[in-house]
Amino acid sequence: MALGEALAARARKSFGARSAEEILKDEGVQLKMVDAPPAEGVRVLAEYQAEPPTVRVYPARIEHTRRQLREEGRNDLAERLGEIALTHELYHYLWHSSYEEQRPGDLVDLLGLSSKLHERIAPERLLRSPLTQEIASLSFVRTLLHLPELPLL
Ligand SMILES: [Zn+2]
Repeated sequence: MALGEALAARARKSFGARSAEEILKDEGVQLKMVDAPPAEGVRVLAEYQAEPPTVRVYPARIEHTRRQLREEGRNDLAERLGEIALTHELYHYLWHSSYEEQRPGDLVDLLGLSSKLHERIAPERLLRSPLTQEIASLSFVRTLLHLPELPLL
């Protein structure tokens, strides 16, 4: 999706080859390791909170999911799972911290919409929807980490 790729390109330009963990720390985002047991069927490995900027990381869930991925033969994703989870949260941080500065025209460019489609839908509302954000974050992570496919967990 254009939005995720555009933010990934912007992140590369601003932060170079630093890892998501380094970027988040440099930006003053707190990383908190939280002892939460794996939830059945839910793969929430980390969560971003804007006020104050914090990423909660759930190491036990990451380990649990890593084992499941290995059993599914998805070893590449398994090996990079911690990095993938933090890069996902980096997307949310960048979105929250830069959204305010976006002009409506930029938002339309980010979504890669044609002007005809723009007239028919409200890009602002579409962009704010949690589903749009989650889909965009997948392509952000894929682009930034050069993954062969979307990191669908
Ligand atoms: Zn998310």
